[in-house]
Amino acid sequence: MSRLSLLLDLLLPRRCVVCEEQLNSHEKCMCTACVMNIPRLSFPSLTDNELVRRFWNVAPVHAAATLMAYRSGTDTHSILEAMKYQGRPDVCQLMGRMLATELSGTDFFKGIDLIIPIPLSRKRKRRRGYNQAEQIAMGISQVIGIPIDTATLRRTKDNVTQTTLSAIQRAQNVQDIFSVQDTSPINGKHILIIDDIVTTGATISSAIATLVEATSQLTISVACIGLTQ
Ligand SMILES: [Zn+2]
Repeated sequence: MSRLSLLLDLLLPRRCVVCEEQLNSHEKCMCTACVMNIPRLSFPSLTDNELVRRFWNVAPVHAAATLMAYRSGTDTHSILEAMKYQGRPDVCQLMGRMLATELSGTDFFKGIDLIIPIPLSRKRKRRRGYNQAEQIAMGISQVIGIPIDTATLRRTKDNVTQTTLSAIQRAQNVQDIFSVQDTSPINGKHILIIDDIVTTGATISSAIATLVEATSQLTISVACIGLTQ
């Protein structure tokens, strides 16, 4: 902790994104109590669990993991708000580091060659200033050192906000929103798809469908920060 950041803390106190209490100089984005209170969701099996099964109708997914159980109206909602709507890429990176740290004791990352964050359209990324999934991927990469690929999977259009749609409407809403130009970076690779919060899994399913359509030589795993309960 530099003297400048200590001085800045004094002049402009940083606050926890969940409880809004003032942070200590060694705390980042969230206070220790709120970090401890995150409702962790660790599956007994990483290769056969409720998240993996959401993608079985599209393609076989090797393994899937999440950090927390997401529920609207709880602390987890404040974390989502910060990641997506309050201009906090640092919160995304912190959550990515937490997810990677939780999984580092397992063989989840074994054999993974590339991390592919779910892309935003260029327009939406410009408006938000960053892609939250890409920032989460950066946090994961900081811990495990696997490279990130943001070029292969492109988002060709935005889907409308999903919150008010039924599961079937969500699936239709995300049809044909991704494209792959060049499969050479992913041929024969094991890729890890990253997103922030998974509800029905429709967006990731659509990305997986686009990827496996482009190349059959692919192993896919999935990780997200929160799974809607
Ligand atoms: Zn707090």
